[in-house]
Amino acid sequence: MAKPDVVGLLAHIIPQLEALKVKIIMRPTEFVYGDSLGYWDPGLSVIEISIHDPGMWPTVLAHEYGHVLQNLAGRFLDQAPWDVFSEFLKTGKSDARALKRAVRCIQAAELEAERTALSLARMFSLCDEEDYIRKANDYIFKHEFARRHGFWPKESGFQATTPKKLISASAFAQIPRESEVLWLDRGR
Ligand SMILES: [Zn+2]
Repeated sequence: MAKPDVVGLLAHIIPQLEALKVKIIMRPTEFVYGDSLGYWDPGLSVIEISIHDPGMWPTVLAHEYGHVLQNLAGRFLDQAPWDVFSEFLKTGKSDARALKRAVRCIQAAELEAERTALSLARMFSLCDEEDYIRKANDYIFKHEFARRHGFWPKESGFQATTPKKLISASAFAQIPRESEVLWLDRGR
């Protein structure tokens, strides 16, 4: 694998973020906001990322940048789906249809951000591509898993059945229960 060109990534995105007056806060802590590695706050126009893992943060930054781009294009501006989902994770209660709608919306937003991250990862050799795709699919599927089971799994065994490309949000609904057994075993 080629050497990661992190400087190239920063030279590519920072001028754009500066022009948009988006601030980047890099924290040496393991997580930012609970157990996230990165966070985009559209209200404050701030990206916050954990730089705890030197091999990881460039792709996390690329992912959050993907969220900035989608908001800039006027997509996924409504925070309600995220509120519905986090309320469900906190209380276990929700309207099933509203929750499903919220999860599909979040998955679509995350998929788009992962597409941006993946193309930047390719452009600047940020990571192993297959490994990244596996983790991205994993992450997007976790939302569906949480919807079905009421908790956010820590790890997953989902990679065993994951193809070598990003999966669309609706396709996640077709994932068979057998692949979930691994998640339940390893969750929490
Ligand atoms: Zn995201």
